[in-house]
Amino acid sequence: MMDLYDLIVLGAGSGGLAAAKRAAKHGARVVVVEGDQVGGTCVIRGCIPKKLLVYGSQACTALHDAEAYGISIKQVRVETTALLRNIRAEVERLSTLHIDLLEKAGVKLVRGWGYFSDPHRISVRHSQGPSGKVIQELQGKRILIAVGSYPTRLSFTGSELAWVSDDMFRLEHFPKRVVIVGAGFIACEFVHILRGLGCDVVQLVRGNYLLRGFDRELSEVVREGIEERGVEIRFGCNIKAIEGKPGFLTTKLSNGEQVESNGVLLATGRHPFLQNLNLGMAGVYCDGCRVPVDEYQTTNVPHIFAVGDVTDRRNLTPVAIDEGRAFADTVYGNSPRTVNHNLVASAVFSQPELATIGLTEEQAVNQLGRDAIIVHRARFRSLAQALPKRGPRCLLKLVAARSNDQVLGCHMVGEHASEIIQMAAIAIGMKATKADFDRTMALHPTVSEEFVTMT
Ligand code: NDP
Repeated sequence: MMDLYDLIVLGAGSGGLAAAKRAAKHGARVVVVEGDQVGGTCVIRGCIPKKLLVYGSQACTALHDAEAYGISIKQVRVETTALLRNIRAEVERLSTLHIDLLEKAGVKLVRGWGYFSDPHRISVRHSQGPSGKVIQELQGKRILIAVGSYPTRLSFTGSELAWVSDDMFRLEHFPKRVVIVGAGFIACEFVHILRGLGCDVVQLVRGNYLLRGFDRELSEVVREGIEERGVEIRFGCNIKAIEGKPGFLTTKLSNGEQVESNGVLLATGRHPFLQNLNLGMAGVYCDGCRVPVDEYQTTNVPHIFAVGDVTDRRNLTPVAIDEGRAFADTVYGNSPRTVNHNLVASAVFSQPELATIGLTEEQAVNQLGRDAIIVHRARFRSLAQALPKRGPRCLLKLVAARSNDQVLGCHMVGEHASEIIQMAAIAIGMKATKADFDRTMALHPTVSEEFVTMT
């Protein structure tokens, strides 16, 4: 007989796991279907292993800086094989932890790839794709689509020779010379990770600047930081083809130039993972590449919901988690709530980090007009940079409304930017004014004290 559940969750990533556990806490009978490792992009091939790589890369840089503090280190030898192996072990531990947490929450886990066989029924295949053997049939009063997204592989001759971000965590070691295509989150993070670990890096960017959508002045500081480390950034580059064999690649550009490397990383965005879900069978509307939902995460079919990257709103782990919990609280907890997608802090873990909350200067000018805002900024060399004498000078910016002094945006490139902006986000959410910032006594010597002393 077919198993009947209150809720079937497709995908054990950040959004799916959060929704499943919260729904079970509210008394629902829940099953999660996952064909890959439990944990999703964030835990398995995203935020967590990436941040561990950042720590590894920073540790290496700190050893090079040691001399400035009178510490003599004869030779820094980097074993990226060991680093990647240790990270994979940690990811495995975290995935197991998530499985245990599901069990403790009373959520059943079914391993396999789910697809709609009718609006209330999910068939689970042993492997991905239509040829996979069906191993289980599940019936659900409600179904939550939380299958996430996957990295885009651009279409040009030889693109299959390149890596996407998923591949980076599976490599045996990082090679000597790497080409990175893109100017977004992943490209700017991996440029620093690889450079810090001793690789030679060339960054190929199709536009004229990095990190489109972020404050332009801040993105310029990130560019300075990348170039100062000896990374060549080539702007206005379009890839025509990649030729060669794994380990020895030639990237051909449409302007006739070519770049030799031992590996190419395509960091050119992500797409919702909708293949093989058979959404048409359930009547779920998909607008080409994503599943649209209303403010309560409901699709056009009232008993089918979606959260996370598959809805392509703010594609960040904490947002997916909140969407999952808001869905469960609304549907099973008798406390309907929506998610605030407008005030979301984000960080690029470049070195130094860029972090931001609220309106950028450009957004504030577009929305309110140049005369309606005041921009406060501080650009300086931090104390941590004084002896090693490296890295771009920090930049801190506050964007405030002229009419009532409310701080609309707080942005920063500098050490610990993500940690600092996380706390500043509370003040911005509480509609703090510039005068509130100024009234706060500075904590000295810190980088963030400039936020309460800048004029
Ligand atoms: P992003 O959307 O951040 O950046 C994509 C980059 O690829 C842009 O620079 C874009 O250029 C470029 N690009 C797109 N299409 C092409 C093309 N055809 N040829 C050349 N370049 C192209 O995507 P990422 O892959 O870096 O990251 C994916 C998502 O993952 C992020 O949007 C974010 O949601 C999430 N993420 C979050 C992180 C964090 O929170 N720290 C870290 C990593 C990922 P252009 O600017 O010209 O459009």
